[in-house]
Amino acid sequence: MLGQMQDWPLLVTKMLEHAELNHADRELVSMLPEGGQIRTNYREVAKRSRQLSQAITRLGVKFGDRVGTLAWNTHRHMECWYGISGIGAVAHTINPRLFAEQIVYIMNHAEDKILFLDVTFVPLIEKLAEHLTTVEHFVIMVGADHMPETGLKNVHCYETLLAAEDGVLNWPEFDENTACGLCYTSGTTGHPKGVLYSHRSNYLHTMAAICGDTLGIGALSVILPVVPMFHANAWGIPYAAAATGAKIVFNGPHHEPDVLHKLMMEEGVTVTAAVPTIWMGMLKYLETTGKDCGRLERVTIGGSAAPRTMIQAFQEKYGVSVNHAWGMTELSPLGSLGSYNAAVETLSDAEKLDVKCKQGRAVLGVEMCVKDTNGNILPRDGKSSGHLMVRGPWTVESYFRHEGGDILDQDGWFDTGDVACIDEYGYMQITDRSKDVIKSGGEWISSIDLENAAISHPAISEAAVIGIAHPKWDERPLLVVTLEDGESVSLDDVHAHLSDHVAKWWLPDDMIVVDDIPHTATGKISKKDLRDRFKDYSLP
Ligand code: ADP
Repeated sequence: MLGQMQDWPLLVTKMLEHAELNHADRELVSMLPEGGQIRTNYREVAKRSRQLSQAITRLGVKFGDRVGTLAWNTHRHMECWYGISGIGAVAHTINPRLFAEQIVYIMNHAEDKILFLDVTFVPLIEKLAEHLTTVEHFVIMVGADHMPETGLKNVHCYETLLAAEDGVLNWPEFDENTACGLCYTSGTTGHPKGVLYSHRSNYLHTMAAICGDTLGIGALSVILPVVPMFHANAWGIPYAAAATGAKIVFNGPHHEPDVLHKLMMEEGVTVTAAVPTIWMGMLKYLETTGKDCGRLERVTIGGSAAPRTMIQAFQEKYGVSVNHAWGMTELSPLGSLGSYNAAVETLSDAEKLDVKCKQGRAVLGVEMCVKDTNGNILPRDGKSSGHLMVRGPWTVESYFRHEGGDILDQDGWFDTGDVACIDEYGYMQITDRSKDVIKSGGEWISSIDLENAAISHPAISEAAVIGIAHPKWDERPLLVVTLEDGESVSLDDVHAHLSDHVAKWWLPDDMIVVDDIPHTATGKISKKDLRDRFKDYSLP
C-alpha cells in the first residue's frame, strides 16, 4: 500500500521561494570582485534569479543544458545557481584554480552553452576562448560601469542582461531527479570527473545540513561561507541559508585574514566554514593583532584534517566551537560532522578534544562503513582501519557521462578512497587517503597523523609526509616542512616531539625544510606534486 501524501517535487528553487515569502528582508551582503560591497535581500535575489532564468532562456538555454560559472562567492553567483537550475538547466561551477587545460577540458566535456564569469577571470578566458568549443555566450558578472574592454565574442553585461527582464515568471515544476548542478573533482589521477547533483539530492542534503548537529543554521544565523561556491557547492551553504532565512555574507575574491575578520566583525558573523589553511591564517592574524572573534559561535573545518592545535586554539582561546567535518565532492559534500553525542558529552575535556580531532559522525542520509581489501565490513572498534565506503541519496551513483564506468560495489557502496576507522559511538577517523598511506614492512603508517603531530611543533608552520621507496621496508616516511619566520629545527628535535604522539617505527627517516608546500586547486597539500618533486630522493 502506498502512502497518500502529496507528490511535491524537491526542487532547489522551492528554498529560495520560501526565503522570498518568509524572510524577504533578510540581508545578503556581498563583496564584489570589481571592488566595493553590496547589500541586498532575499526578495531582490529571488526576483533577480528569475530575471536570470528569463535572460538565459532568451539566449537559447533549454532544459538540461549546462551553463558554466567561473566566479567567486557573491550574490550574483547565488542568483546564477537558482536562475540556471530553476528552468531545469544545470549550473556547472568551475574551479578557477584548476590548470588552464583542465578548465578547457571540463567546459568542453560539460558542453557549457553559456559562461558566467567574474571580471577577474576575463584575461584567463580570453586566452582559452578559442579552445572552448561549445560556449555561445559570455556573461561578465558586473554592472555596465565596470564592463571591461574585451576581445571575447558574444559578450554580455550581467546587470544589463538582467535589467532587460521583468522577473515575472513561475519556475516550472519538474521531476525532482532532474540534474541541478555539476561539479568536477580536481582529479589527482586522469581527467577531472563530473559529479551531477540532482534537485532532490541537493534538497535532501540541505535538510541535513541545517540541523543543529550538522552546520546548525537557522533564521538568526549570520553565515560566512569562506569555502568557495566552485568547490563542492560551498558545502551547500547557499542552499542552507535560503532554506532557513539566515543572513549570508559573501567574501567575493577575498581570502585574506584581515578582510575576512573585518567582514566577520562588521556583519556579526555567527557561523563560518572553510578548509584548515584559511583558519591557519586567521589564527595567526588573531594572535598577532590581539583581536577576538566577535559574535562567532561556530566554525566548521573540513576538506583536510583539522589539526588538534587549531581546534584547541579556537575553543580555548577564542571561545568558538569547532565542528570538524568530512566530506567530498561526490557526497554533495557533507558526510560526517563532529558534534558530541550524549556519551561523548560525559567525557573529560581532553577526551572530548580527542573526539573532535576525529572526522565526526555520519549525518542522517549517509550510510558509512569501513571494509577490508576483501570487501568485509570491519568492526566499529575505533581501531580496525580500512576503506571508507558510503551510500545514500546524495552520494554519487556514477560520474557524468559515465566516465570511470560503474563505481559502486555490488552492495551499492561508493569507495571514498579514504582509509578510516569508526569507533563504537560512530565517530569516524580518517587515517589517510588510500594512495597516500605509507606502507612500511607490511604495516600502514598514517601520513595525516604524522602531519598533525608535526605541526603541533611550535617551529613548524606546515607539514606533509610522503612515502619514499625503501629497499628493506618497501616505503618509509619523509617529512617535508615549512617553518615559522625566523625559526629553525633539527630532525632530532622533531623526533623528540613526535615520539609523544606516534609509535617509534612511524618516525620519519628524514626531514626536508622547504620554502613552500604545493597545494591543489582545492587548497589541499598536493602529495602528487611532492612525490614528483622528491621522486629521485633517497633516504639516508
Ligand atoms: P578534491 O579531490 O577535489 O580535493 P574533495 O574536496 O571532494 O575533492 O576532497 C575530498 C577528500 O578530502 C576526502 O576524500 C578526504 O580525503 C579529504 N577530506 C575532506 N575532509 C577531511 C577531513 N576533515 N579530514 C581529513 N581529510 C578530509
